[in-house]
Amino acid sequence: MQPAHTSKRAFETQPISPSSLKRPKLEPDIDTLEVPVSGPIPGPVGPGRWLGSRDHQFWYSDGNIVIRLEGVLFKLHRSRLERYCTTFCELFATKPDGDETIDGCPAYEAPPELSLQGFKDVLAVLEEPLIYANRRPSQLEAISVLRASETLQCWQPSRLAKTWLSELWDANAIPSADRSDAHSVQDAILMVQLSRTFDIPGVLKRALYELVSSQDFWDTFAKDRPSIALAEEDLTLLLAARIALAEMWQDFVFDVPSTNKGGRSLCLSGLGFKKHGPCSRSLEGGRMASWAGSVLRGGHLKSGARDPLRYNVVERGKEDLKLMWCDACLQEKEVEWKAKRVEWWGELDKVFKLERV
Ligand SMILES: [Zn+2]
Repeated sequence: MQPAHTSKRAFETQPISPSSLKRPKLEPDIDTLEVPVSGPIPGPVGPGRWLGSRDHQFWYSDGNIVIRLEGVLFKLHRSRLERYCTTFCELFATKPDGDETIDGCPAYEAPPELSLQGFKDVLAVLEEPLIYANRRPSQLEAISVLRASETLQCWQPSRLAKTWLSELWDANAIPSADRSDAHSVQDAILMVQLSRTFDIPGVLKRALYELVSSQDFWDTFAKDRPSIALAEEDLTLLLAARIALAEMWQDFVFDVPSTNKGGRSLCLSGLGFKKHGPCSRSLEGGRMASWAGSVLRGGHLKSGARDPLRYNVVERGKEDLKLMWCDACLQEKEVEWKAKRVEWWGELDKVFKLERV
């Protein structure tokens, strides 16, 4: 089942932070290393030009430079900003914005494309080394750090954010059959966009699989392809992957358990050990036709082709299959599927044209 919220409109969303992921509260104390101070800066702040509120978290009493962003003032250490962020190196090489100083420090406007939250998230990474000592950042936080650090040409936090996202979209983890680790279509589209924009190959495999395995995605593709905010090359890749997965699935799902190539039963239950067991059909021949009939009747050919990594045909079709097939045959089929999951996941590197990451 696809999540009900994967609506068509959402596929049009440009890469913004997914609303489904709430930003967790920071640990207390870590959030307030400085005594909170708010309100306008007292003293000579010019003709209202620099009026703003001090940031609660990043206003260092011994700071030597002030950065303003969205009306919030940050008093920071120039040498640290220059050390990590190329954009600040370039900015500080220019004259300060005006003759005024704030708290005795020269003041600069941050790049306008920088978001306030993103700047704070990057500062948290740079200034508070323990902030992620006991927990991993959420996807929302990782994306925020990524975007802001790229804007600031702040490469160490950027690399860190890419590592976090690659862990959240782990290319080495086969998607769980129970969908407990599934990602939404919106998030998958966002991740493909981020991957292409900022070069994060580690997230691509899982993101592309989430899309190719989603019926909602293909429904939207059929009805309103331009609304999907992905490059044409990625859509072409997904179409090819859809065909490749369907072929892999077809080969597997029609393969009859415990049966040789001539259609003869290899099932012990059918050779007299269990004369009246559910595999009795094996003595009559016709195992292939019987199996194919079950697959088609249950809709397993079509349903499994969409998401073969997660589609356990034995589990899904057990009520019908148990009427004709013994436990040993069905177990063999399930074991084969589990092995195929590993094999198919490996083959997707070629299908998605990915270098092994
Ligand atoms: Zn059997």
